Amino acid sequence: MPKKIRMPFKGSYKHSQEFGVRSLAYARFGLDGHDGDDFLMPLGTKILSPVNGIVHRVKDDPTGWGLYLRIWDRKQNLLVNLCHMSSINLHEGDVVKAGDEVARSGNTGNSSAPHLHIAFADTGGDGKRLNIDNGFKGWYSMYDKTRIQIYVGAPNPSAENSVPTVFEVPKVDGWMAMINQKLDLILEKLMT
Ligand SMILES: [Zn+2]
Repeated sequence: MPKKIRMPFKGSYKHSQEFGVRSLAYARFGLDGHDGDDFLMPLGTKILSPVNGIVHRVKDDPTGWGLYLRIWDRKQNLLVNLCHMSSINLHEGDVVKAGDEVARSGNTGNSSAPHLHIAFADTGGDGKRLNIDNGFKGWYSMYDKTRIQIYVGAPNPSAENSVPTVFEVPKVDGWMAMINQKLDLILEKLMT
């Protein structure tokens, strides 16, 4: 079963570099190629959490990922890496929901233009990455359909039981969530 994510931004941006593209630039990081997908976007674009999870890491890596964060979805054992941000207003241990704004895009680290670099990895129950010998230190593409199913705007894609939960708690925001879920189901059918 593919793991479920939502798109990490609203709208669409140029997919400027695909996962796995081979370049000497990545050899120095011990990689077979580009360990993520890049999207060119204006500085300060809102970056949304693709999963329900906990902030696993917030760090500055000036020669590589720049200002980056990782969010761990422990329900799906899925880790996401979001890099080259201009600002991150979260701390390690913070809990986020899919669709929450988690950062603003930027041009920090090894980056020549403002863009988002995003990749996913499977983890064990302790949050540590698995398959770290896959040539990409465990990371894989959000477009790997055997592993990832992308929802356009699901508010709660990683929670399998999210719809029943909404019915049990009929608050106003719960109804909105339910309507969004239904819209997502329609969008999903249209896309497949
Ligand atoms: Zn990249």
